Amino acid sequence: MTEVCRGVYYIPGQDEFIPDSHVYVIGIPDSGDLSIIDAGLMGKGKYKMEAIRKLRIPIEGIRRIIMTHTHLDHIGCLKEIMEQVPSAELWVHEVEAEPLEKGDERGVYGMDMFRTMCMSQYNLKPGAFKFEVTRKLKGGELLEIGGMEWEVLHIPGHSAGSVALYQSEQKVLVPGDTVYADYAIGRFDLHGADGSALRRSLMRLAELDVDFLLPGHNRIVKGVKQDYIRDTAEQWAPYLQ
Ligand SMILES: [Zn+2]
Ligand SMILES: [Zn+2]
Repeated sequence: MTEVCRGVYYIPGQDEFIPDSHVYVIGIPDSGDLSIIDAGLMGKGKYKMEAIRKLRIPIEGIRRIIMTHTHLDHIGCLKEIMEQVPSAELWVHEVEAEPLEKGDERGVYGMDMFRTMCMSQYNLKPGAFKFEVTRKLKGGELLEIGGMEWEVLHIPGHSAGSVALYQSEQKVLVPGDTVYADYAIGRFDLHGADGSALRRSLMRLAELDVDFLLPGHNRIVKGVKQDYIRDTAEQWAPYLQ
């Protein structure tokens, strides 16, 4: 785990035949008000919590887990992490929070074929991803957390309730699976996905001044080129109708 910039820590995912999402920890450690962003794939909670411990970040200071969205590769080990930080709250965008509370797992698996494959591969039972959500995000919130200010943006497209977190002071963007390094974007064929919404969300992110791009997968970028997100959005626009 590395400190990307002040109060922003990065724990790389460990992909298997399905990807494992990266985890970010945000907040100034002394604040005692830290947040974990995303969890990862089943079985990947242990090494991520060990990475947090190794950095001497106080586990009891972890107050919440914020999900960029609830796909399996992000929520798979949420229970493992919550067991280690039982007092942590769970914050999810309202559009994905409601199915999560009802145990509607279509948005977690994304498609039937994937559900069948993963349930047998990981021995998952129906209802494995039913969670109470403490705070339902709407987008537009300005969060004062961990001694820092983070803006929540609702960026549907890759999934219906995707959110990005943005910190203007250090120009840090955590966009989930909406935009990656190397002009890649998130897939838009799963349950709740919407190509034209994704195009609008990318254009919205393109308005932000971004130095650090911290996506859910693949490499992270420090020193993002000006107009990188706009160029990415424009390259993909013909496919995002
Ligand atoms: Zn995703
Ligand atoms: Zn993902």
